Amino acid sequence: MANNEEHFKNVISHSKEYGFIFQSSEIYDGLSAVYDYAQNGVELKKNIREYWWKSMVQLHENIVGIDAAIFMHPTTWKASGHVDAFNDPLIDNKDSKKRYRADVLIEDFLAKIEAKIDKEVEKAAKRFGETFDEAMFRQTNPRVLENKQKIEEIHTRFKNALEANDLTEVRQIIVDCEIVCPVSGSRNWTEVRQFNLMFSTAMGSVAEDASVIYLRPETAQGIFVNFLNVQKTGRMKIPFGIAQTGKAFRNEIVARQFIFRMREFEQMEMQFFIRPGTEMEWYAYWKETRLKWHHALGTPANKYRFHDHIKLAHYANAACDIEFEFPFGFKELEGIHSRTDFDLKQHEQFSGKKLQYFDPELNQSYVPYVVETSIGLDRMFLALLSEAYKEEKLEDDTTRVVLNLPAFLAPIKVAVFPLMNKDGLPEKATEIFNMLRFDHMCTMEEKDNIGKRYRRQDAIGTPFCITVDPQTLEDNTVTIRERDSMKQERVAISDLPGIIEQKVSMRKILERL
Ligand code: ATP
Repeated sequence: MANNEEHFKNVISHSKEYGFIFQSSEIYDGLSAVYDYAQNGVELKKNIREYWWKSMVQLHENIVGIDAAIFMHPTTWKASGHVDAFNDPLIDNKDSKKRYRADVLIEDFLAKIEAKIDKEVEKAAKRFGETFDEAMFRQTNPRVLENKQKIEEIHTRFKNALEANDLTEVRQIIVDCEIVCPVSGSRNWTEVRQFNLMFSTAMGSVAEDASVIYLRPETAQGIFVNFLNVQKTGRMKIPFGIAQTGKAFRNEIVARQFIFRMREFEQMEMQFFIRPGTEMEWYAYWKETRLKWHHALGTPANKYRFHDHIKLAHYANAACDIEFEFPFGFKELEGIHSRTDFDLKQHEQFSGKKLQYFDPELNQSYVPYVVETSIGLDRMFLALLSEAYKEEKLEDDTTRVVLNLPAFLAPIKVAVFPLMNKDGLPEKATEIFNMLRFDHMCTMEEKDNIGKRYRRQDAIGTPFCITVDPQTLEDNTVTIRERDSMKQERVAISDLPGIIEQKVSMRKILERL
């Protein structure tokens, strides 16, 4: 089993080699932290989006979808707080001239201490063997306790500094922790500065008349400004939700880890409008509901965990992340935030329009509270891909690379192969392909021997391969081979639609939610 770093490298090169993800504008040496989805990637991405959309919009009678524009009136971003507060603290190393997020430097430093503790535990576990009591060791070992205390102290200092927006103190923490630049190895740091993450452009053809507008850094605001339009035209009653998927743009300072952190990415967000005072119930409801959505995919439950925010964003009164164990560790995959009435109130104030709901049961108008669920489609893609990528040793001592993606998400569901490229087999294969393609993404392959064709389909996660051979022409049966078990079965052509549907249907997964 390759280690995590190697595993991640393999996933990245596999993504390119098998047509999932390409670097943007690669022939010009690429554009940093921008990626293109290729022929297989676009299918997988579309299927994930559809799974999200159906679970949110189709299965909830009180949630509807919209598709708002990327460009919004500039005042939107004043109201939302993004113009003034959508910043990352950045710091430069004077020797390497490299730029870092100050908070990330500190968090990485804390993770290193955490890793030291884990090493200590691992060593002790080896030394004591079966009698080892890990919980007891963590509570009593002096070195573990010392490191735990260190983490606690830095954490508290960091949290206070962020809350007070004290950038001098943030820098001082970096200095006091003796954090060095990973490139130059020096501690020659600049001051910490705030850097706004929004991209801007100009709208209008004449320079003097042009006004600065932003590329949206989140899709949520398109929902807030349409709250009343949707509520009125859809005759929605609180509680109700508005869902949206679409592109968002952030000028990330440190863009790395492949499609984990991009400058152009896609979000799937849902804002749930509720009665003030009920937000903690709904917050708990959406935490549970969203985790279920992840678990229904069959990924081991221990790959997910909740992480409560230390520092709440300016709009939130409770917030957590669903973290996933990526090859580079547990990281945020989805955010669930109780946003209070902050956004709608701000838009009321800046637009001068009332954004209130008349609650017939209470006989009273109010600005609704909001609980939001927000997941990055690209991050979900990376989570699935890195989990699905397997290098399997087979009985004959060869290795196969297989993506055991949940079958309903696989880019291609069925590959049809004529065993030989003659004797009417390609024509029969085309017939089968034509029968299945109305329901599923299918492909036909005629080149190379069957073994090689199987491997190519395994590598892109195709759940079924169907082989047409001379016997097919006699009795209308084919062999169907399943990706994970590699089992082959001879079945009647007329049974194929049922067998395939049974395995690749999204319905069965949706029923688990
Ligand atoms: P992070 O702390 O990783 O920067 P965030 O807390 O700023 O993320 P949110 O503003 O809560 O993220 O956005 C919601 C979701 O959008 C995130 O959970 C993540 O999945 C996704 N996301 C945010 N920024 C990016 C990015 N630069 N590239 C890809 N996905 C992103």
